[in-house]
Amino acid sequence: MIDFSLTDEQKNLQKKARDFAQEYMLPYASYYDKTGEFPTPIVKKAWEAGLMNLGIPKEYGGPGLGLVDACIAVEEFAAGCAGMTTSIFANQLGPEPVLIAGSHEQKEKYLRPLTKEPKLVSFACSEPGMGSDVAGIKTTARKEGDSYILNGAKFWITNAPHADYFTVFASLDPSKRHKALCAFIVDADTPGVKTGKPVEKMGHRASATSSVMFRDAKVPGENLLAGEGQGFRIAMQTFAMTRPAIAAFATGLARASMEFARAYTDKREVFSSKLREFEVIQFKLAEMYMKVETSRLLYLKAAWAADNTPDATIPASVAKAYATDAAMWCASEAVQIHGGYGYIDQYPVEKLFRDAKLYQIYEGTSEVQRLILGRFVLDGYQPAMENLPKWTGQKAPDF
Ligand SMILES: Cc1cc2nc3c(=O)[nH]c(=O)nc-3n(C[C@H](O)[C@H](O)[C@H](O)COP(=O)(O)OP(=O)(O)OC[C@H]3O[C@@H](n4cnc5c(N)ncnc54)[C@H](O)[C@@H]3O)c2cc1C
Repeated sequence: MIDFSLTDEQKNLQKKARDFAQEYMLPYASYYDKTGEFPTPIVKKAWEAGLMNLGIPKEYGGPGLGLVDACIAVEEFAAGCAGMTTSIFANQLGPEPVLIAGSHEQKEKYLRPLTKEPKLVSFACSEPGMGSDVAGIKTTARKEGDSYILNGAKFWITNAPHADYFTVFASLDPSKRHKALCAFIVDADTPGVKTGKPVEKMGHRASATSSVMFRDAKVPGENLLAGEGQGFRIAMQTFAMTRPAIAAFATGLARASMEFARAYTDKREVFSSKLREFEVIQFKLAEMYMKVETSRLLYLKAAWAADNTPDATIPASVAKAYATDAAMWCASEAVQIHGGYGYIDQYPVEKLFRDAKLYQIYEGTSEVQRLILGRFVLDGYQPAMENLPKWTGQKAPDF
């Protein structure tokens, strides 16, 4: 059975997140974009409103919502401010390896505190020398007694300067690539762990991105997730859970681009008519609407697969690749509809354009999603029409 309707609970969550975005995000989005300050009061408010850490199971004090629910909420958030949403949602990405692979004790120790205080968690996978090629991680983990000694550098880590702990991917032997990867929970105050200054970014300026250095950082063996050599699997499973959400972010941004563009077409007059009167402009709005609708269907399908099937990798890549390209296109056309005013900071579309770009890069680039999908079509996909007949040389049928 296919049912496209939301439950009453989902409608309430959507409204709560939409109201939050309109009251606490949109009005302050320009301020945080300009200053690059970390939006601590907004993150705190989101936590107080119960709109953070949605995926933490009830057993560990959280609301225990599925990914479909989380995606419905983050579409609303991202329509308010992409940067703040990245800061808030990093708390879904950071602890995801613990949710996927943590023992009961690890979950109790590292998930429950997030429901008691507005603490932040970072996912530390990328490095200065690698992002797409996760198996190429160079940060090392050396076993020493009951502990592991971590050495290396992570880069681009969202919320790192504010994080209480990190989920860190490191290798027992970089030459063994994915086979030697391990995932650890690392407390931010571990001696030898140091975060860098946040970098200046094109967009998502309300999120803090910085390096994390590990210099002989001693991590207790009990903080290893799942077992040695399980890091690559955990990272891939994490992405299958978080990519649908990035597609939902992108849908929110695309929708906001369409709505700001729509409003402008009612204001601006050219050649003695409002912009909305011109078919060329209507077609742009129509195209935006089709992309928003398609993106939403795709992220819902991917999130549903993440909630209900053992592996959502493929629908997650479809949704992420499509929705993030769609958001970039919608933001670009929204700037175009604003003409020169779209290019300056007097209207929000200039920020939407800068913010949209990141969606095509983080959590696996658009190219990486296409690599995954290309390999799937060639090697994993089961053709619907098996035994394709010879195309030419057939005689007329006699049935
Ligand atoms: C603001 C921001 C926040 C981030 N937050 C986090 C975070 O919290 N945690 C974290 O771990 N990481 C984070 N990242 C890192 C992000 O995930 C990486 O930047 C991303 O995965 C790409 O890696 P890279 O930058 O090393 O690019 P590269 O891997 O060097 O890729 C460069 C280009 O080559 C393309 N490419 C790569 N491989 C192939 C291939 N096989 N075939 C064809 N094309 C290819 C890529 O698509 C890209 O266009 C963040 C990045 C940014 C910018």
